[in-house]
Amino acid sequence: MHILLVEDDDRIAAALRPALHRHGMTTSRLATGRGAVDHLGGVDVVLLDLGLPDIDGVDVCRAIREVSDVPVIVVSARGEVDDRILGLHSGADDYLVKPYDIGELVARVHAVYRRRGVGGRGPGAAGGGDAGSADAASGVVVVDGISVDLHRHIVTVGDRPVTLTRKEFQVLALLAGSGGAVCTRNRIVAEVWGRSWAGANRTLDVHVATLRTKLGRADLVQTVRGVGYRLGLPEGVAPEGG
Ligand code: CA
Repeated sequence: MHILLVEDDDRIAAALRPALHRHGMTTSRLATGRGAVDHLGGVDVVLLDLGLPDIDGVDVCRAIREVSDVPVIVVSARGEVDDRILGLHSGADDYLVKPYDIGELVARVHAVYRRRGVGGRGPGAAGGGDAGSADAASGVVVVDGISVDLHRHIVTVGDRPVTLTRKEFQVLALLAGSGGAVCTRNRIVAEVWGRSWAGANRTLDVHVATLRTKLGRADLVQTVRGVGYRLGLPEGVAPEGG
């Protein structure tokens, strides 16, 4: 596994690289955000420091997301909570707060790498069930004019394609695969992020807010207070068998 380390602090990089090598990984390092998108070839996971001298790490993350699906773990200094949320919002897969334990880092690296492999087949495809108007053969779910292609990861509203981050897509796919049924917060966090943590609910809310904005349909993803989220059914259409 090859790790691209985007880190301006020489001491951190010097300590981190041999530690990662001991865990069987190879590394390359950039001390600036500039050029990060040009060095993604052969990279399995990007470890991205948010506090870079030239470009804000969040912007680097967005730039990476525009060209690549490579897993990104954002690293920020302690207390930069808003930065962490912003990092996830910008398409990062996970975050770590400095100073972190190397064992924790290695575990997270393996986790995001593994999830990318699994997520590539579409989270709704494995456990989506038969709800909604899903076409099992094509893997396309259509809800109220919004089409979600679970296999090809393509979302369209009417004829308009919508670009979602991988996490945003996974949340939407999970909801779409459940038809009109409620998905609990715990289930969404567990299936999309693979684990829970103190800020999970806030992160989920941020992703849902972005989804609503990108889909241009604030009413489609409905909040079920205290429980979770569901996809709203079109007006006047009753759930099948209900
Ligand atoms: Ca830094």
